[in-house]
Amino acid sequence: MKILVSACLLGIACKYSGGDNACPALLDALRRGGHEFIPVCPEVYGGLPTPRPPAERVGSRVLTADGTDVTAQYRRGAEIALQMAKLYGCEAAVLKANSPSCGRGVIYDGTFCHRKVPGSGVTAELLEANGIHVYNEENFAAVL
Ligand code: SF4
Repeated sequence: MKILVSACLLGIACKYSGGDNACPALLDALRRGGHEFIPVCPEVYGGLPTPRPPAERVGSRVLTADGTDVTAQYRRGAEIALQMAKLYGCEAAVLKANSPSCGRGVIYDGTFCHRKVPGSGVTAELLEANGIHVYNEENFAAVL
C-alpha cells in the first residue's frame, strides 16, 4: 500500500522549530518494507521557512501568535499534499497528531496555551474530504 506520511515523523527536520518528530515505530515499519511511504510537509510546500513561527487554527483561518495570517500558505500546502497523494495513488496517510496542518480529530485551540480541542489540521481535513483516511503516529498500526 502507498501511504502519505508527515516527513517530520520520518526524522526530516521540517518542524516549525527546525527539529523533527521522528517516530521510531514508524521508521521500523519503513525499514521492514511492504509499504511505500511518500513523505510530505505541507507547511514547507506552502512556502513557509524552517524554522518558522508556530501557528494554530482559529476557525477557518491559521494564525501565528502575533496574529500573522498564514491561512493561504497552509491551504496551498494542503493542496500540494493532496496532489502528491493522488499522483502516487495513496490510499491512506499517517500524519503528525495535533498539528494545524497534519492533525486529525484533535488540534490546539488557537490560544497558544497548549489546550487541545476537537478539530483537524488543514491538510488532514482536505485529504479526508477526498477519501484518504488519516492516521497518526499513535494509531498507524491499524493501517500497516
Ligand atoms: Fe510535520 Fe506536518 Fe508540521 Fe510538516 S506540516 S512539520 S509534516 S506536522
